[in-house]
Amino acid sequence: MFESLSERLSGALEKLTAKGALTEADVATALREVRVALLEADVSLPVARRFIKQVQDKATGQAVLKSVTPGQMVVKIVHDEMVAMLAGEGDGEAGARLRIDSPPATILMVGLQGSGKTTTAAKLARRLKERDHKRVLMASLDTRRPAAMEQLATLGQQTGIDTLPIVRGQDAVAIARRARQQAMLAGYDVVMLDTAGRLSIDAELMAEVAAVRDAASPNETLLVVDGLTGQDAVHTAENFDGQIGISGVVLTRMDGDGRGGAALSMRAVTGKPIKFVGIGEKMDALEEFHAERVAGRILGMGDIVSLVEKAQEQIEQAEAERMMKRFQKGRFDMNDLRSQLEQMQKMGGMDGIMSMLPGMGKIARQMGDAGVDDKMIRRQMAIIQSMTREERKKPDILKASRKERIARGSGLEVQDVNRLLKMHRQMADMMKKMGRMGKGGLRGLMGQ
Ligand code: GDP
Repeated sequence: MFESLSERLSGALEKLTAKGALTEADVATALREVRVALLEADVSLPVARRFIKQVQDKATGQAVLKSVTPGQMVVKIVHDEMVAMLAGEGDGEAGARLRIDSPPATILMVGLQGSGKTTTAAKLARRLKERDHKRVLMASLDTRRPAAMEQLATLGQQTGIDTLPIVRGQDAVAIARRARQQAMLAGYDVVMLDTAGRLSIDAELMAEVAAVRDAASPNETLLVVDGLTGQDAVHTAENFDGQIGISGVVLTRMDGDGRGGAALSMRAVTGKPIKFVGIGEKMDALEEFHAERVAGRILGMGDIVSLVEKAQEQIEQAEAERMMKRFQKGRFDMNDLRSQLEQMQKMGGMDGIMSMLPGMGKIARQMGDAGVDDKMIRRQMAIIQSMTREERKKPDILKASRKERIARGSGLEVQDVNRLLKMHRQMADMMKKMGRMGKGGLRGLMGQ
């Protein structure tokens, strides 16, 4: 479905990757083409603008790695930005995970009529049954359209999912309550409530859905929107989220020849993750939404992206090896300390490093209490920053007057400078020992 967008983007970016050196004008031209391609794919204007700005900012500040061309670097930046646009911060690859651990968990399906809500409810129920081995009960709350209730019952039969027996005359809230009761009594893991849709958003519909939401307190409220409707889909999502509050979006008809803008702007505009995409009418045509994969499919430049990633890894590797060699020679000056601190910062400070080690949470907190945290790292970097080049290379020359100057320069106290010097000495000693011990150094050190 992203075919024409994909073609235009790769057209614009290929011009860059073909060149050895790039001028600012080259990049500007390519990004203008990227912007037009996004707008033509029906991405909303503010989202497209922000996207281009982010890419520009990152491209300007970015050092080009030796083994890749500047153009390849730009492709990688565009790719990363696209993933960020599709996934939002902190989504990771877990956008599709549903919070349905406490049985019976309730999933409320909301959306306009014709969006594919009922079909999606059945697809999702089937998926939960087959992949996650959940017992699912479905119920239609569409009291005005008996055909919709029948449709869900039929889909239930086809997929082997139980549906709540239809009782004429009950309102939506009563049906929702009955469904939850039934789920509790019969030990279902998940109840899916398929609410009534309308052709467009109206107050009555929203009031009914809100009443159901209050009665059922759903674990997930999934909005089903037609991906073919582009920016309208995004407006619908904003509306439902404002009035009902949604936890995620399912985009349907992503098998069609829509332009894809809905998928691209949804996260940025609504702040809500796309959890699944519908890719056909059949019951198995539902996919988890993975930002990485979708960005990869749109750009179609996976080779270049992994090339740059490898180059980045190699640089880090080379830096680590260079440091190791210095340590083996017994060298560890303030520049080395600074790159160690930078590494720590990159890994999310002390907390970040500690959280990667099982069982270290408590120790990290204790160290945090002792002041070994991001703030302290920043202060230490400020102190090193205020040293002259010579002082950084030979910290031994730091006597009282120099220390005072450095403290003033970094806006800190002399005792802070002393603390850093002490830490440097301890680390230098440790590095010397590790260096002497060669590769098995760390283990040897811990065994002592
Ligand atoms: P509702 O009114 O929102 O409940 O919509 P339905 O579930 O009845 O779906 C309306 C039509 O869209 C049906 O013919 C479905 O088969 C079709 N449909 C739903 N999802 C998809 C999809 O992902 N791709 C395609 N091609 N058709 C879909």
